[in-house]
Amino acid sequence: MSAPSDRIEILSAPPGVSLWDACLARFAAMLSGRLWDPPLWVLPDARHREAAELALLRALERPAIPLQALGTLASLAAGLRPDDPPPQVVRPTAAALILNRLLAQSAPESYRASCARPGFAPFFWTSLLEAESRGWFPAGRLPSVEGPPPPRDFVSLQARFHRALEERGQCTPGEYLRRAVVLLGVEDVPVRLPREILIGPLQQVSALEREFIAAVARRMPRVILAPAAGVSAAVLLPPGFLPEAPPGPPPDPAVPPDRVLFLRPASPEAELDAAFAAIAGWAARGQFRYGEIRLYHPAAEDELPRLLHAAARYQVPVRPAFGRPLAQFPGVVLLRKLLALFQSGWSRADVLDLLRSRALALPWKEAADMIRRVLAEPDRRTHPPGRGWIEQAEESGWRETAQALTQLQALDLRGPMDGPAFNRWVRTLADGLLARPAEPSGELADPALAAEERAAWECLGSALEEMAPCFPEAVDRSVLVSELDRAVGQAAYLPRDLRRDAVEICPAARPDHLPVPVALWLSLHSRFPAAGRVNPFLSGDPPLEYAARLRLFRQQTANAGQLLALSCPRFDDGGDELALSPFLNAFPGLAGESGARQRGADLLARAGSWRPFAEGGLKNLTRDPAGDSSGRVTRDHGLRIMRSLGGWWSPSRLESAIQCRFLHFAGFVLKLSPLADAMVEPVSPLLLGSVAHQALEEYLRRKLRGEPADPAALARDFFRRATERFDPHPEIDRAEAELVRSLAQAAELGWDRLAAGFSPRLDGEDRAALELIFGEHRALPGLDFGFGGFTAMLGGKIDRLDLGPEGRALVLEYKYRKAENESAREFFAAVRTGLQPQLPLYWMAAQRLLNLRPVALLQMYLRSGVIRGLKTAEAPADLEGREELEMEELSAEDLEAMLHATRTMLETKARAVMRGDVAPQPLDFAACGPGACDYADLCRYRERR
Ligand code: SF4
Repeated sequence: MSAPSDRIEILSAPPGVSLWDACLARFAAMLSGRLWDPPLWVLPDARHREAAELALLRALERPAIPLQALGTLASLAAGLRPDDPPPQVVRPTAAALILNRLLAQSAPESYRASCARPGFAPFFWTSLLEAESRGWFPAGRLPSVEGPPPPRDFVSLQARFHRALEERGQCTPGEYLRRAVVLLGVEDVPVRLPREILIGPLQQVSALEREFIAAVARRMPRVILAPAAGVSAAVLLPPGFLPEAPPGPPPDPAVPPDRVLFLRPASPEAELDAAFAAIAGWAARGQFRYGEIRLYHPAAEDELPRLLHAAARYQVPVRPAFGRPLAQFPGVVLLRKLLALFQSGWSRADVLDLLRSRALALPWKEAADMIRRVLAEPDRRTHPPGRGWIEQAEESGWRETAQALTQLQALDLRGPMDGPAFNRWVRTLADGLLARPAEPSGELADPALAAEERAAWECLGSALEEMAPCFPEAVDRSVLVSELDRAVGQAAYLPRDLRRDAVEICPAARPDHLPVPVALWLSLHSRFPAAGRVNPFLSGDPPLEYAARLRLFRQQTANAGQLLALSCPRFDDGGDELALSPFLNAFPGLAGESGARQRGADLLARAGSWRPFAEGGLKNLTRDPAGDSSGRVTRDHGLRIMRSLGGWWSPSRLESAIQCRFLHFAGFVLKLSPLADAMVEPVSPLLLGSVAHQALEEYLRRKLRGEPADPAALARDFFRRATERFDPHPEIDRAEAELVRSLAQAAELGWDRLAAGFSPRLDGEDRAALELIFGEHRALPGLDFGFGGFTAMLGGKIDRLDLGPEGRALVLEYKYRKAENESAREFFAAVRTGLQPQLPLYWMAAQRLLNLRPVALLQMYLRSGVIRGLKTAEAPADLEGREELEMEELSAEDLEAMLHATRTMLETKARAVMRGDVAPQPLDFAACGPGACDYADLCRYRERR
């Protein structure tokens, strides 16, 4: 037989044709001659298989095509020995149950403290899948294994898990493929392979899948391999299998989109509103049908409820292309409420929860009266549980309620039971009492809803079936209920949604090769494409690195045939500076915004509508943003960026470099979005701070001009324009209320005039600006600091300068945070030693740029109504009279030492940047970690402790 590499044909798309269409045409030709003995087309997943089926039906103009001709790598492995029944692949719900049983018997040392936590089993399961896809198995590792080996305790639990599965005639998905690799490697064992195979388009494969493809290629006379555009065929096979070849050109849309639109929304809500308003508009005008539109979102699975809600508001039908968590299915939510009621012995809170959930079909008035009565009653535990509530309903004459509760009480089986009995009991509960029957009637008006209902109940049924054999002996009911909770938490159901005219919602991290007329890519933040989160169980690189993510993104944008819409949420400093990463900077001329610095108010006024992308932008979209052709940022390129940034500094940039070099690199060099906070918090702290500054400035300006100024109304007005609010939102309402309160407090404290004889300085041509801005491209130049061999320039924005007699000045900074979060002593010490350089730098700026004589540096905490500061002996005496003031006095020597320490700090950090020094080394570990640092997920700070 010829060398394996000679048996592989690489399929690529001719110019002007998409790879998907090229594969389709080739397979249609392969298939049309011999429908009775079909070749096999291996596709990435079921979604591509479904699309291929429809496209082939159209292309071949036949009423049916052989479905066994379309498969995945897993189905190819399953068909190798058709007469030899293969083991069953374990489902995630059963995997969680088995893992919990094993951990209950004995937990490895390093997992003992955490293994009882609800998230442990699911995390371990995904880590196990990842380790096996990299080639690590208890039975031995694959030749092309990737990354460092898993830790010892991980391996021991993995081995026990495999043994437990073996006893049940099951295995993991990885083990299934590994056995197929072994089987194919034994030459004299006959296997059944189709006469010809087309594999692809494939974007990325794991080490295990590479071994499997190679094993198939060794046994077949011919395999056609279709690597995705921009991917080298060698990447899809083990090292050395094919001669190294450069990757193909990046994906080029066969028909370039006519238009590329761009949006910079201020909040996730505004983004969804703009997206669905645009979709509804296109459909209403007859430009596109819903089914011709695809929406990518990097957090589509987590954000699904919000996406569905926004779609419903605009009456846009949507079809998620991924499984939904069973725990969120309404019927299962009701069932869990019922089980919680039984578990708590009919506690008042659970009875209320059940009545409010409308799980019981009660007359509305009775339910409402009963809720009021329960609210007025103390919690009462009776025997048997629930008796007290039933008596109450009877006494009040609520017959139907009493009857429903009595029926429910009869079903409250207590005491130990085994798995099969528990299974039967839960089914009875679901069948008999809940408003939603366990077996769907199939008469629901909306067929999509009926399909969803059916899929969810089937999924719950399977979870119960899987539980039953795990508990052959009777155990306490509470054990079974919490195991069911865990199993449900691990399960996802996928309704077979056959609606063609619905917008498809796709997660952004999955390969996609299906062309579509319109693609919307939402939440394209500067973190994308970035490395994924580090696996809590495994060490080593995350499986999907930067270059692979970049290829995925290119592929997805190349799928758009006529219109591509990109949305980059604006979570940067209030929107008056576009903090774009090198990656996003690869889109030059974004909607004419790049380079054009605009005042916040202008930007707010025109936010929220889609703008056309600059002409020629699409070419640049698929160009490498920085560095080499694989999409990596090279060391040289990184150094060039660092050095180009070495010259100009700002106080906040210096503060981040003082806390940690990596924090500075991620935030100020790569300009990565503070994604974690932005996704969780509806209004980012940066945006909130910026709005507070703008509203306070406007208030003071009006006061100085003698115009009417209502701080609360101004705060509300600025806030609403900045957040582009559409609907009420509890979290956003809370943020708004706090902002209004803070500004009203500042007005009450009389912060417009702090000391007699001192008043705020107005700047600018029309003398309307309180802020003093200096630096590059500004009317006032930057401050230059010469440090033997190089010069660092400083730009900045002093929030306010209050001018007094004889050139004396107060330097003021607003902070939209609470004073209680840092002690006054620590603050004074940090300012004196250069660790908080902002105020001393502004002291120098006021002195050198305006020839002023600063006499006090004041930091005003808007959320606490506290002012902290340092002052010289020349500071006005009546500052002392303010209760909210916490001050320290500086002698002449203290002042000189403070300014010297600040200069030295700037020199040290600027030199580190010039050297390209970015290793994480935090000054304060308390400011590390998720929630405290925006880049904690990227830097592995724990390893530095
Ligand atoms: S978590 Fe700590 S070490 Fe990591 S970037 Fe942030 S400050 Fe630096």
